[in-house]
Amino acid sequence: MSITFLGLGNMGTAIVRTWLKAGYAPTVWNRTPAKAEALAAEGATAAPTAAAAVEAADLVVVCLLDDATVTRVLADLDLASKGVLNLTTSTPGQARAHAERHPGARFLDGGVMATPPMIGTPGAVILYSGDRDVFDRHADPLRVLAAADYLGDDPGHASLYDIALLSGMYGMFAGVAHALAMVRAQGGVDLDEFGGRLVRWITAMTAVARNDDPAATIEMQAANIPTFEGASRELGVSSELLAPYFELMRRGAAQGQDDLAGLLIRG
Ligand code: NDP
Repeated sequence: MSITFLGLGNMGTAIVRTWLKAGYAPTVWNRTPAKAEALAAEGATAAPTAAAAVEAADLVVVCLLDDATVTRVLADLDLASKGVLNLTTSTPGQARAHAERHPGARFLDGGVMATPPMIGTPGAVILYSGDRDVFDRHADPLRVLAAADYLGDDPGHASLYDIALLSGMYGMFAGVAHALAMVRAQGGVDLDEFGGRLVRWITAMTAVARNDDPAATIEMQAANIPTFEGASRELGVSSELLAPYFELMRRGAAQGQDDLAGLLIRG
C-alpha cells in the first residue's frame, strides 16, 4: 500500500515522522519544498509536484491549512480510484462536498483530536467517516498515528464530531480563562494548585451534567448570576466571556426550560 502525503505543516510533518519511525515510507509533497526535503533525509520520498506525488499512491492523505486550500490543491489532481483521506479541519458540508466533487475517488474524512506532539502517543484520537473500505485497508498505518474511531459512511460525520468536540473545548476554555483571571486579579493564589482543583471540579460537573441532575435547575442557577457578576466586578474582571451563557441561562429560566442546548437549535 503506497501512501502519499500532501501538506507538511506542523501536523503533516508529525504524522509523516511517526510513519517513518514505524517503518512506513510515504511519498510527500509540500508547497514549500524544504519541508519535504527534510523528511526525504529521514526516509520519505519527496515529489516535485502534488500531481507527481499522487501518481502511484493507493492512499492520498491531505493535511493543509484550510478547506479552500484543499479544494485548490485537489482540483488539479487525477484521483480516479484512489483512496483520499482529508485530515484538514472542515465543516461537515465541506467534507461531503469533496466526496461529491471527485466521484471517481473514495473519500474518507478525518478529524484529528490531538496536537502534533501527541501523534503516535496513547492520548491521540483520530475520528474517521466516509469510505469504509479505505479505512479498513489502511487500518494498520492509521492506528500507528492514534486510536482510530470509524463513525460511519457519511463523510461529514467525523467533521461534525470534530467541530462539536472543539466547540465544547472552547466553551470550557472561556470559563477557564475567566476563572484564572479572577484568581490572578486577587493575587496570592497558587495557580498550579488552583488549576488542578479546577480540572477536578470540571470533571465532577461533567458527570453531573450527564446524569441530568434534577436538583440543579436553570432557575436556581440563574438566580446566582448577579453573584458571579458582582464577584467579577469586585475583582475588576470583565464578564464578557460568560455573558452570552448567562444570557442563555436567563432565557431558559424565564421560559422554564432546562434544556439549554435545545434553546440554541434554530428552526
Ligand atoms: P500549518 O500552518 O503548520 O501548515 C499548513 C500547511 O498548509 C503547510 O503545509 C502549508 O504549506 C500548506 N499551505 C498553506 N497555504 C497553502 C496554499 N495556498 N497552497 C498549498 N499549500 C498551502 O498547519 P497545521 O499543520 O498545524 O494544520 C493543518 C490542518 O490540521 C489544519 O486543518 C488544522 O486545523 C488541523 N489540525 C491541526 C492541529 C494542530 O494542533 N496543529 C490539531 C488538529 C488539527 P507551506 O509549508 O508551504 O506553508
